[in-house]
Amino acid sequence: MRLSLRCSSIALLAMSALPLQATTLLVNAHIHTMDPARPEATALAWKDDGHLLAVGDTADLQKRYPDAAKVDAQGATVIPGLIDAHGHMLGLGMTHIQVDLVGASSKQEILDRLKAGAAKLPKGVWLIGRGWDQNRWAVKQFPSAADLDAAFPDRPVYLERVDGHAVWVNTAAMKHATKPLDGDWQPQGGRIVREGKKATGVLVDGAVGLVADAIPPLTHEQTREAYKAAFADAVAVGLTGVHDPGVSLDDFKVLQEMAASGEVPLRLYEMADGNHAALDWLCSQGGHWADAGGRLQMRTVKLYMDGALGSRGAALLTDYNDDHGNRGILVTSPDAYRSAVEKAYRCHVQVATHAIGDRGNRMVLDTYQSVLGDHADSDHRWRVEHAQILALDDIPRFAKLRLIASMQPTHATSDMPWAEQRLGAERLKGAYAWQRFIHEQVPLAFGSDFPVEQVNPMLGLYAAVTRQDLNGQPPGGWLPDQRVSRIQALAGFTRGAAFAAFMENEVGTLKPGMRADFVILDGDLMTVPPRQIADLKPLSTWVDGKAVYQADKAEAAH
Ligand SMILES: [Zn+2]
Repeated sequence: MRLSLRCSSIALLAMSALPLQATTLLVNAHIHTMDPARPEATALAWKDDGHLLAVGDTADLQKRYPDAAKVDAQGATVIPGLIDAHGHMLGLGMTHIQVDLVGASSKQEILDRLKAGAAKLPKGVWLIGRGWDQNRWAVKQFPSAADLDAAFPDRPVYLERVDGHAVWVNTAAMKHATKPLDGDWQPQGGRIVREGKKATGVLVDGAVGLVADAIPPLTHEQTREAYKAAFADAVAVGLTGVHDPGVSLDDFKVLQEMAASGEVPLRLYEMADGNHAALDWLCSQGGHWADAGGRLQMRTVKLYMDGALGSRGAALLTDYNDDHGNRGILVTSPDAYRSAVEKAYRCHVQVATHAIGDRGNRMVLDTYQSVLGDHADSDHRWRVEHAQILALDDIPRFAKLRLIASMQPTHATSDMPWAEQRLGAERLKGAYAWQRFIHEQVPLAFGSDFPVEQVNPMLGLYAAVTRQDLNGQPPGGWLPDQRVSRIQALAGFTRGAAFAAFMENEVGTLKPGMRADFVILDGDLMTVPPRQIADLKPLSTWVDGKAVYQADKAEAAH
């Protein structure tokens, strides 16, 4: 049943009106703790330092802590703070300063949105957009520079595809490319789409940098603003933690500054962006850096193996079903990849590799296996990001090598209209195969890959449980044997994600000693009709026992 609780009725007043209390109590809550030893409770008690003292019954805890400050949940549902195991914070923040093209159903709609965005920009400044997807258009073909040139003859235009693995640029932007795009050469791990020798204006994977590198970088202040916007987005949808795959050393320094000045309202688990300066720095720190406040850490490197399925860049063992002769792209050469993994291993850094196709995933498994050698059963917690399409024989190897599959439920429901075209029916057996991983006892961590998908984790929980789109299609769900239960879905976004970040003794479950990170929801995730899972909203989001988001205050601010 859906509770009709109004956000304003939550008694948060106690927090600010009373003198400083040693203990705070959340009472009259319907708590799903995710702790198998005590799955349900009605009250939480925590100390000022943000650690839980007790999880139990409202009457009991009121008796035990008579002087505690009180937060009355008025019967609302409470779950552990949600953790997105794969979300790009800076990318999310940039969506606030870029033109949002997500969902556009035609090139005309894209041009309209771009013109509106350009109206706010000074002359000559690059117009950046993201989120186009030719699969949504009547003619499902890559666009070209010519589509943009009439409206934008002088201003460089740079538009990322929805999966981040291809860009569409205009002629003015191509003029800034770091190398001439025409001719018959191709860059390592990428593709310049051409007609004859002439670049058409679409660059895939490793070719993206040819134009991306020419875009003036964000200023320090713009970076801070982008992060701030992303933090606000995240806590407003109930996220208390995000694993952020791929941060540069410069951007990490901005985050360190923000964490030190108390501007980071949630827990960020940062991953160094490949074998570059951030990884070198992390190695110099002994492989792990954490701030004193528990809001920022880095102990991981994010590497890339292949591209994405939508742009046919995912590396497949056999040809694309709808593009014969094409088996996708390795964005990192096997030698460079292996030496990055070896370096991380030597530095005690956790490795997380993007792998989508069955060939990409196999290469990651082979490399992990060979680098880990006899130490595969150590507590390394190496991860495969996406683990999207697997040869069935390769799934048990995740368990053998003690790897974590970091998967994004909404990728399945976003890709389902065309995944079979790309892969054919047979290969779909190992695609988005959450239940097969669970069957092999592979730890799962769930995320969204925002801003590729929306940041709201309720959409991921809904997709995980139903494998349907928001219109309830297809009936019964797509490849429904791979759906997961509500508890399994919530575990992926709480304790599963916590485990993938070595944080299972701090967050992901509500039990004594853990951090008081939780979300008060406007309905019960475990009992609402499936479609309503997607519409659940946080009334408030709490990190270290402090409200970092309150829906009523957010409403009042508008
Ligand atoms: Zn990603």
